Amino acid sequence: MVYFKKELARRQVKAGGRRWLFVPYDQLTDEIGPLSREDPGSLGIVLVENPWKAARRPYHKQKLALVISNLRHFALEQADRGVAVRHVIAEGPYATALESLIPELGTLRVMVPAERELRSDLARLANQGSLQFIPHEGWLSTSEQFRESDIKAPPWKMDKFYRSIRLATGVLMEGEKPVGGRYSFDVENRLPWHGKPASPEPPSFPRDPIKEEVGELIGRTFAHHPGKLDLDALPTTREDAEKLWSWAKAECLPLFGPYEDAMSHRSRSLFHTRISSLVNIHRLLPSRVISDVAGMKLPLESKEGFIRQILGWREFVRHVHEGTDGFRKLPGGKMPVEKKPGHGGYEKWAGKPWGSSKKVKGLDGGAAPCALGCDTPLPPAYWGEPSGLACLDTVVSDVWAEGYSHHITRLMILSNLATLLDVRPRGLTDWFWVAYTDAYDWVVEPNVLGMGTYALGGLMTTKPYVSGAAYINRMSDYCSLCAFNPKTDCPFISLYWAFLARHEAVLKTNPRLTMPMASLGKRGPLRRKQDEEVYKRVREILEKGDKVTPKNL
Ligand SMILES: Cc1cc2nc3c(=O)[nH]c(=O)nc-3n(C[C@H](O)[C@H](O)[C@H](O)COP(=O)(O)OP(=O)(O)OC[C@H]3O[C@@H](n4cnc5c(N)ncnc54)[C@H](O)[C@@H]3O)c2cc1C
Ligand code: SF4
Repeated sequence: MVYFKKELARRQVKAGGRRWLFVPYDQLTDEIGPLSREDPGSLGIVLVENPWKAARRPYHKQKLALVISNLRHFALEQADRGVAVRHVIAEGPYATALESLIPELGTLRVMVPAERELRSDLARLANQGSLQFIPHEGWLSTSEQFRESDIKAPPWKMDKFYRSIRLATGVLMEGEKPVGGRYSFDVENRLPWHGKPASPEPPSFPRDPIKEEVGELIGRTFAHHPGKLDLDALPTTREDAEKLWSWAKAECLPLFGPYEDAMSHRSRSLFHTRISSLVNIHRLLPSRVISDVAGMKLPLESKEGFIRQILGWREFVRHVHEGTDGFRKLPGGKMPVEKKPGHGGYEKWAGKPWGSSKKVKGLDGGAAPCALGCDTPLPPAYWGEPSGLACLDTVVSDVWAEGYSHHITRLMILSNLATLLDVRPRGLTDWFWVAYTDAYDWVVEPNVLGMGTYALGGLMTTKPYVSGAAYINRMSDYCSLCAFNPKTDCPFISLYWAFLARHEAVLKTNPRLTMPMASLGKRGPLRRKQDEEVYKRVREILEKGDKVTPKNL
């Protein structure tokens, strides 16, 4: 940290007589909140770098580097503007780190943290009046708008919320009517990708002394964390964020819509923008990306498809998370809650324990709803042990290479297989939380518990997102790498039918599953027995960390 400390000290201005603001790790912007409108000469910010938080879960090295590098660059950027910066290294909860500063700096303000975990950590300071929560201006909709949208009560439906928010904001609207006559063009956006048009190569970002120092820190302190550290792929400055966004606009968005659901081993992101990790820490503002895209000349299916992700899904999941207290309070009653943060199967894979067993007051490990009563532990294959299933192994290797894979791989490969194997949804959620650079509780929990698995029953989705081999074969090229044949012996075929059969009692009344349940009814007892045997065998092999092959199945 020698370079960073020196540079910060060189830029520091007099700290006296200022109003201080705590800026959490995911609010690294001066385009909203007090930093956007108050005189920099009257403001001070507290930035907390927190190895204790980093060690609570086995986070991907790339995520730790992303957060720390951006935070340090932000510190220098603000000092350059004349804002006084207090950079603190904490070795425990944020509240403890901030508390010791209050006598000197006075009451701190903070925009309401997006993460429930941070809100809980800070609750004590807020209750005693040392910390004042002010509105988070990064969101595009309010809790009132969510409550007043067409969703009076669960099940929560994204489409209804999205429509009401389009109307409220006027984005992609002509008066009261949606541009193009429809709110969604999803049905047009389902093309597989066969190598053409060429998918864009993601940009790289120059190294600088801050990044290099963070790289050394990761090597020194967080070497035991999983994942590969790739400093060249890491956007850390304002300029890097602009570079990524310019690339996304020029190279990805024109074809974003049609190939949104495609998957390929030849391209990790296809025409997806890769902006989520920067949007979630506010290096790119959601309002800015929406207004840029709304003003671009783009095919409507791409424009609407992209806007729906940010204005619809991103806002929607945040409201559901907040409104249910992180799924602790659901219409059916209180949900079970884990005492400690989970590690998503790390211990089993690594053969050693993770973290301390000490419980931190006020912080738990998250809600563990499970509508289908699933209890399979997450197999070591998710940590990189070869499974013999080319689709899974390709995506898992992508994730550990850079902490990213796009939406459909998260949904239709990783979550799909876990759901078909009855993996415990909380374990899968913890895995996603640690593995992805864009994961924070408010976004990862609804996406995994609500969408990726069927842990919430029908509260967020109308049916479980599960598929057999035909879908994966149609929408990807993974099967061309596989020892299995998607039309004959692929385990996904039986896993799919075995899943429907195991959960028949719950799923048979679901109107969206009428067709598959009718087909299940026509599957004779022998086939159903074979399906169940394949399920048991795959589960047993993967649990041991072994490879499934056409011979051992
Ligand atoms: C099982 C599962 C887990 C997920 N976990 C996360 C997570 O931890 N963090 C995260 O940001 N997203 C998560 N998502 C949503 C989505 O997959 C990612 O936002 C997206 O893949 C990020 O890549 P991108 O920037 O290239 O996205 P693009 O496809 O280019 O989409 C543009 C933007 O839309 C937003 N977006 C799209 N879908 C969603 C969504 N469902 N929820 C919230 N924002 C969305 C993101 O900000 C994204 O950057 C998850 C989805 C699933 C199915
Ligand atoms: S054949 Fe089956 S296991 Fe192999 S890649 Fe295709 S869907 Fe996946």
